[in-house]
Amino acid sequence: MMTVFSILPQTRQFLGRDLQMFINGGWTPAVEGRSMSFHDPATGEPLGKVPAGTRADIDRAVRNAAQTFENSAWSRLKPRDRQNLLWRLADLVERDKQHLAELETLNNGKLLSVSLGDIQFAIDYLRYMAGWATKIEGASLNVSTELGLGEVFSGFTRREPVGVVGAIVAWNVPFLLACWKLAPALATGCTIVLKPADETPLTALRLAELVMEAGYPAGVFNVVTGTGAEVGAALASHPAVNKLTFTGSTAVGKQVGKAAMDTLARVTLELGGKSPVIVMPDADLDAAAIGAANAIFANQGQVCCAGSRLYVHRKVFDRVVADVANIARSITLGNGLDARSQMGPLISLRQVNRVDSYIDVGLSEGAEVVCGGKPSGPGYFYEPTVMVNVGQDHRVVREEIFGPVLTALPFDDLEQVLAMANDTAYGLGASIWTSSLATAHRAIPKIKSGSVWVNCHTILDASLPFGGYKGSGLGREMGSAVIEHYTELKSVLIQV
Ligand code: NAD
Repeated sequence: MMTVFSILPQTRQFLGRDLQMFINGGWTPAVEGRSMSFHDPATGEPLGKVPAGTRADIDRAVRNAAQTFENSAWSRLKPRDRQNLLWRLADLVERDKQHLAELETLNNGKLLSVSLGDIQFAIDYLRYMAGWATKIEGASLNVSTELGLGEVFSGFTRREPVGVVGAIVAWNVPFLLACWKLAPALATGCTIVLKPADETPLTALRLAELVMEAGYPAGVFNVVTGTGAEVGAALASHPAVNKLTFTGSTAVGKQVGKAAMDTLARVTLELGGKSPVIVMPDADLDAAAIGAANAIFANQGQVCCAGSRLYVHRKVFDRVVADVANIARSITLGNGLDARSQMGPLISLRQVNRVDSYIDVGLSEGAEVVCGGKPSGPGYFYEPTVMVNVGQDHRVVREEIFGPVLTALPFDDLEQVLAMANDTAYGLGASIWTSSLATAHRAIPKIKSGSVWVNCHTILDASLPFGGYKGSGLGREMGSAVIEHYTELKSVLIQV
């Protein structure tokens, strides 16, 4: 018998609604009238339907966003007012935190505690970005220009909002990724058209309502639902989009980057990863084993910077791998709404099959599965898995699986493991576990990735820029660095 979990009446009411897309401050069906369904990954049952948009819907949303950017109350708002609106939005998200977390868990499958953590991070980020709204500065420059007739010039720079932002996001952290795009757009004075992932439209649509409730003018934030092939591609190639910001796979990110070059839209790409976790022999080995297990099994391994490659010094390899495998075996799989669950389902049957096919690839390459390695339905569950007897050239070590699958390899010294860690097409995150500050400082400059963690993994902060080296992307989210990606730099020279 299926267990029914208690959710807020507000959540139940939202699920019962006839969901539409959100354009120019109002709900609207797709121009062509088609819809698409999304599922509860814990049961595999349909959860609801949203409009399946087309190029025509994107065109409508982008044109409205362009009009709002050029000619509306929004374009004339003072920085202080943009700051206050962002604070108000953060307050509303905080008020509805439990409700948003329930929607996220029902739609994505992740543990409710993880959804609550994601929403809290979104609140922190909205407030962090509210602070930036009043601190966007240019510089006053001492120019040397002279034309020979004694003219005097004064030079300065201004940062101006880039315009219409087209945002395309993945399904693994739906609400937080939407806020990663929305917050800097609102802080800088841009307008935005968001395409949520096909699988996870729910919290983006609820966010649109909160944006209106906060008092933003119509047309500032628009959400167009639909498939990546239709709606995503139409947004990426729309000539009136001034900046594209994409979070998703490296393969699709490259297509978005190429589309951006055709229209010369500014573009930032947050892409995939195959992040190493390095355990030195002098580390606190208990903490390192727990940390390594969390690094790969949190969010079912569906984390861009998941620690999917574990490198352990040969002297302590067997012990650490045995500890991680024991943790994996002890994890209780279950519905994310159930407080007893320690790991939820994957996002879709497609993802279960993808992960499972990688186990076959690993076995065919000679890997040994220490634990896990099987789906665990009903629902889209997959056992936490640890593989050994793998080599650097094996596909399970080189390719992003995006599921709860860890490959473990031994090493003999720091130089060797740094070369192994960098021997990848990706460069999003890396962690090193050691009790020696000197070892950490020797390693940090040599690791080719956008984030390096010491004695922790996947710890993010609104003030720390986040992004990738190599195939993991272009540009940075968060921190002051993100402001540059949402603004144009204008040089001004005045003859005085
Ligand atoms: P995906 O690339 O398949 O889809 C991402 C988004 O792109 C979705 O909204 C999808 O509908 C859209 N899309 C698909 N085809 C498109 C096209 N032709 N044109 C435009 N848009 C298109 O990725 P996914 O499977 O949803 O997400 C998993 C991937 O996202 C993993 O590789 C993961 O590492 C990555 N990711 C990266 C970060 C980061 O910050 N670096 C964060 C989360 C996820």
